[in-house]
Amino acid sequence: MLKKIPKVILKPEREKSLLRKHPWVFSGAIQKIEKKDLIPGDIVQVVSSGNNFLGYGTININSQIVVRIWSYNQEILIDRDFIREKLSAAFNLRNRLIKNTNSLRLFFSESDGIPGLIIDKYNDIIVCQFLTAGADQRKNDITDIINEFFPDIPIYERSDSEMRKTEALAKQSGFLSGDYKKDFAEIKENNCKFYVDFKKGHKTGFYLDQRDNREFTANLFDKKKILNCFSYTGGFSIYALISGAEQAVNIDESEDALNLLEKNLELNNISPAKNRNIRGNAFHILRDMADKGEKFDVIVLDPPKFIKSKNHIISGARGYKDINILALKLLNKNGILLTFSCSGLLERDLFQKIVADAALDAKKDAKIIKYLSQGIDHPISSNFPEALYLKGLLCAVE
Ligand code: SAH
Repeated sequence: MLKKIPKVILKPEREKSLLRKHPWVFSGAIQKIEKKDLIPGDIVQVVSSGNNFLGYGTININSQIVVRIWSYNQEILIDRDFIREKLSAAFNLRNRLIKNTNSLRLFFSESDGIPGLIIDKYNDIIVCQFLTAGADQRKNDITDIINEFFPDIPIYERSDSEMRKTEALAKQSGFLSGDYKKDFAEIKENNCKFYVDFKKGHKTGFYLDQRDNREFTANLFDKKKILNCFSYTGGFSIYALISGAEQAVNIDESEDALNLLEKNLELNNISPAKNRNIRGNAFHILRDMADKGEKFDVIVLDPPKFIKSKNHIISGARGYKDINILALKLLNKNGILLTFSCSGLLERDLFQKIVADAALDAKKDAKIIKYLSQGIDHPISSNFPEALYLKGLLCAVE
């Protein structure tokens, strides 16, 4: 078998990361690709300059990451059974660990062993993303295998992420299997219900990654006035209002998100009088609020990814600092700031430093009382630290 699979030969000394089971091979590390007419997504074997086997992966010469490793085991075939085993292991892990929801990330890309494959379940529908050529080429097999595990659940494709561009793949969405009559999925997380716009909402429709943080912080909201900045469809606000918050104020630039937030209030029998939505740019709105002297007991800051590439680190860091200064100034005495960054390129230490600088500028004393991260259905393979993207700080602010 080894002989039949085309080789990608690395330059001398470039095998170190693969020996440490980091799954990305960049174009700069490659000395030679044995076969010229490979189709993006085809399987190759990566070998060192001394011809030692390192791993099997899928190739895409249109991407900066030319090979993504699927297996380091020379004896294994990357076939339908291989995929079934990976999916089965990922589903089992969630089954063992997660009980408080009917909606979760069932498969998380490299961390679960298939680069670029995302599988999210929203109660009675599954939504997938195929973000790399390797995952995309095997879409039919993957769909069939998901069907084996979940025979009655329709599968919808949301391969419309910007990441497809970096792989030179066109955006694609639509049903891969089954049929679903409703426009929105209806999910239950702990004792909160949400509508999920799986066709047009962000990512695959919902921020499943914040589930554990919503749950953990719910009890901080009792009788409090909450500002949920970058609220999306109201994840944190619904938890807060169900847990006894006095009022929630939500800011988001997306009208669709705020409309769905209102429907989510109704779904949870929460009086709309307890909620206020403000549509617009959070930076401007927080400034206006400060001018008017508005104050809140708890502020949640969960902005979009400000750092999309290494070129954005400085401007993105500035964005995080500014929004944190603005929020800190709006907090009542003994307030709580729940601040996040979902930029994978921003390391936790630097994020903490940015928040510390923001506190200095805002003349507030912020104590970190808990480090937060993405939910347990978004595991981080120990050889692949890039999987850790969501970082949060729960701060007591005096
Ligand atoms: N905390 C949410 C997820 C937030 S995602 C949850 O748990 O569900 C980030 C949100 O920020 C998106 O809804 C996006 O529409 C919004 N957004 C992006 N840029 C913005 C801006 N400048 N001002 C206000 N909202 C913005």
